[in-house]
Amino acid sequence: MYNPKSTKAEEFICHEEVLDSLKFADEKKDDIKYVKSIIEKAKLRKGLSHREASVLLACDNEEINNEMYELAAQIKKDFYGNRIVMFAPLYLSNYCVNGCVYCPYHYKNKHIARKKLTQEEVKQEVIALQDMGHKRLAIEAGEDPINNPIEYIIECINTIYSIKHKNGAIRRVNVNIAATTVENYKKLHDAGIGTYILFQETYHKESYEKLHPTGPKHNYAYHTEAMDRAMQGGIDDVGLGVLFGLELYRYELAALLMHAEHLEAVYGVGPHTISVPRIKKADDIDPTAFDNSISDEIFAKICALIRISVPYTGMIISTRESQEVREKVLKLGVSQISGASRTSVGGYTEEERPHDSEQFDVSDQRTLDEVVKWLMELGFIPSFCTACYREGRTGDRFMSLLKSGQIQNCCHPNALMTLKEFLEDYASEETKEIGEKLIREELKNIPKDNVRKIAENYLDNIHLGKRDFRF
Ligand code: SAM
Repeated sequence: MYNPKSTKAEEFICHEEVLDSLKFADEKKDDIKYVKSIIEKAKLRKGLSHREASVLLACDNEEINNEMYELAAQIKKDFYGNRIVMFAPLYLSNYCVNGCVYCPYHYKNKHIARKKLTQEEVKQEVIALQDMGHKRLAIEAGEDPINNPIEYIIECINTIYSIKHKNGAIRRVNVNIAATTVENYKKLHDAGIGTYILFQETYHKESYEKLHPTGPKHNYAYHTEAMDRAMQGGIDDVGLGVLFGLELYRYELAALLMHAEHLEAVYGVGPHTISVPRIKKADDIDPTAFDNSISDEIFAKICALIRISVPYTGMIISTRESQEVREKVLKLGVSQISGASRTSVGGYTEEERPHDSEQFDVSDQRTLDEVVKWLMELGFIPSFCTACYREGRTGDRFMSLLKSGQIQNCCHPNALMTLKEFLEDYASEETKEIGEKLIREELKNIPKDNVRKIAENYLDNIHLGKRDFRF
């Protein structure tokens, strides 16, 4: 029944295979010789299967776990250097016809303020985001065919790309909207989106159906097969995710990796990103009502395991997590983080953080300048780079760049140049000082002399007011 090459949800996320994997993990977790052989395999940097990752997740040997953390940190360095890509979510509409029991946008919630941005409001939100320094957005919307049809989403994307305020520009729009048809994915692709992101929430079918009791999202197969339709619609960068806390984490990790294996088996390219959200308090949602919440330690272990199991997949962490947790997982493999996020519709144009239409409470409430400064003080390069997709390096072409080892001659200078733009246009004096020093130091880490010289020239030009250079 289990078949990663099938395009049927119940065959590529086969419940029995998940259960067998967990049983296998329980049997093997204390077999130190076998567990060590999995770590050795992971060191080859070609990833691990869902079964192997499940064994490591179940293993509670401290020495092995420490080795796994070290390896995750090393793979992170080898594949992503010290760059961290920055983005912000933009909530377009919280009208929703679904009944998701963990989300305050569920249709039965009558007291949450319902809002949908007009194109003028989209423009004002984008200007506010550009004025912080953002270049990359993830647009978010509830599912509502009447209020938020695909035409509305496309119109918003066009508006977002069209706004050039001062030196600002949104250069990549990722999209996190409900599962839709191949035809609609084609429209999103034609509108020039970056990644199509859709969280599975839970891979456990029975729980999924209970957690999504009503509305189109109730259909487990339609939701689980969404990435297949997205790929058929021409989108080759897709982002997976699980909402941790809904189901047993061991089940979720095995199934999440099976999903990645499925995409690789059928389309020759795995997921572009994996997100790891945890349930948060929100309007009428109490996270303690869900009894599968995971500790910060398990959360960190999951992040490390994702890093070593799918080394070529970016990992995203949002402001749902605190500064402290973010700091821990940044080292273990996270490659993208949001900054200064507001999860309410129209939130960026308000003086004070509004709560009346929020999707969830934000733990990390710092400004983008503070997040950028913090990252640099931790030794990371905050990157506002969007070059790959604009140069057509998506899907397997992006993966080839990663595998070619040329990242340091490409992503590294691109990160420095986009950071320089941020420093010139938006940073505080203190952040600017730290950033300029970092850029000078990091230029030395560009291996090719000619690339370094070109990058230096571009940086001078950015100082003189020119923008948008890229390799
Ligand atoms: N409505 C779309 C869908 O069905 O996928 C768009 C996504 S929604 C705006 C973004 C994500 O927020 C959801 O997929 C869910 O995982 C997450 N989310 C919902 N309620 C949450 C909560 N209380 N705490 C944390 N994350 C939550």
